[in-house]
Amino acid sequence: TMALNISNIREQFPILESLIYGKPLAYFDNAATMHKPGRVVSKVNEVYEKLNSNIHRGVHFLSNEATTAYEEARKKVQVFVNAAHTHEVIFTSGATGAINLLANSFGESYIKPGDEIIISAMEHHSNIVPWQMMCKRRKAILKVIPINQKGEIRLDEFEKLLTPQTKLVAVTYVSNALGSINPIARMVKKTHANGSMIMVDAAQAVQHIRVDVQALDLDFMVFSGHKIYGPTGTGVLYGKQKLLNEMEPWQGGGEMIKSVTFEETTYNELPFKFEAGTPNIAGCIGLGEAIDFVTELGIENIQKYEDDLLNYATEELMKIPGMRIIGTADKKASVISFLVGEIHPFDLGTLLDKMGLAVRTGHHCAQPIMDYYGIPGTLRASFAVYNTKDEIDRLVTGINKVAQMLG
Ligand code: PMP
Repeated sequence: TMALNISNIREQFPILESLIYGKPLAYFDNAATMHKPGRVVSKVNEVYEKLNSNIHRGVHFLSNEATTAYEEARKKVQVFVNAAHTHEVIFTSGATGAINLLANSFGESYIKPGDEIIISAMEHHSNIVPWQMMCKRRKAILKVIPINQKGEIRLDEFEKLLTPQTKLVAVTYVSNALGSINPIARMVKKTHANGSMIMVDAAQAVQHIRVDVQALDLDFMVFSGHKIYGPTGTGVLYGKQKLLNEMEPWQGGGEMIKSVTFEETTYNELPFKFEAGTPNIAGCIGLGEAIDFVTELGIENIQKYEDDLLNYATEELMKIPGMRIIGTADKKASVISFLVGEIHPFDLGTLLDKMGLAVRTGHHCAQPIMDYYGIPGTLRASFAVYNTKDEIDRLVTGINKVAQMLG
């Protein structure tokens, strides 16, 4: 790995120079969404200024240019996650859009009454609710892998949940609420040994650690563009070619068809079968640019830098009286959830904001995990490659100040 030039990186994010209530912004809400480097913003602008056209349908020059740029972005995603084929990358509106697409198509194609889907206790609502809805429609059963107090998946319990009825395991790679990195490679092996399929929610993973869909042998994988320095309204569903070919499309419309009559419609080939209607063309091209940004820095270099930030933040936060870190898994990525004494997270978060310190408070769209710990929510600091130890020092000072005021 190679040391990154962080001040050079920060210069690419003008928003980091903002003053909030007169104080310099320190942004620790990266798990919710990340800022975009100037090149991503410029790329999106450039698409609207110079390329704007609908894709895959024009004979004219601009339409062809836009189509090429959009398909190049797909190629960038393919290389980034090491998919075997470009058409295994389906563009969606986000991780939520991708999971809903999968839950509907997979449900329609593979699920019959009595079949089982396994998720984990630490899923984001967007990897719970679509499966609940699908199970209700298809009369299938949703099972949940428990976790331990540290916030780690219990592999022994996972093994017991696998049965001949298990059709799919849908599990997050990194927990957005706790930061735990799950043992995906081992879970894939157990899942496949059971003859079942696995979907990995990589919404909190691809921006921090290498996700290689072939090395891990993932059947499906999803992520959001806006959490990896890309535009909002973009995301990806990766699926193995064979499975995507077998699956029914979810949404119908233009682009996803081969031929339409009122009697019968035949569907387009991959990936278009799953991309009905006009997609977020500029956004997806912007996502390609964001992936170039990450690739040029090197995901391993980013991981090393962020690990260092996480370790430093953990050590420094632990020095605060009354500090309770929620989620102490052996392997974590870029997320630290905590409570301080009896102070309500919302009060602490609101006062930190007045110092320019942007953290997240609440249940982080993962209510079941908060129930498990018997807490209504936490404060969460989550890091991107542009955060610094200086900012963490300011956070620690800020928390101490508030604790003295309220404590
Ligand atoms: N899964 C995880 C683990 C997440 O953290 C998020 C976003 N917080 C999502 C799914 C949903 O992503 P989006 O809202 O971008 O669709």
